[in-house]
Amino acid sequence: MTVFSDKTIKEGWQRAGGRCECRLVPHEHLGGRCGRTLTWENRGKESQDGWEAYCRSKICDDDALWNLEILCWECYQNAP
Ligand SMILES: [Zn+2]
Ligand SMILES: [Zn+2]
Repeated sequence: MTVFSDKTIKEGWQRAGGRCECRLVPHEHLGGRCGRTLTWENRGKESQDGWEAYCRSKICDDDALWNLEILCWECYQNAP
C-alpha cells in the first residue's frame, strides 16, 4: 500500500491519461513508455487493465504528484 491520497491519485490518473506511465528502461517498452490502457476500477487487481500507484522515490512518505507513477499491474510487479 502507499500513502497517496485519493486526490493525488486522481490527479496522477489524469496526468497519465488512464495509461501506464512506466518508463523503466529494463522493461524495454516500445517508444520508451508502456502506455497500456488501464481501467480506473481495477486498481490493485491482477488483470490486463489492472494498475497500482507506484512511489517514484521508494520512500512513500510524500503524498505528492511528482512522487506518484501510475503503473499497470505487470510493470508494478516488475518495478524495483
Ligand atoms: Zn506498464
Ligand atoms: Zn514497465
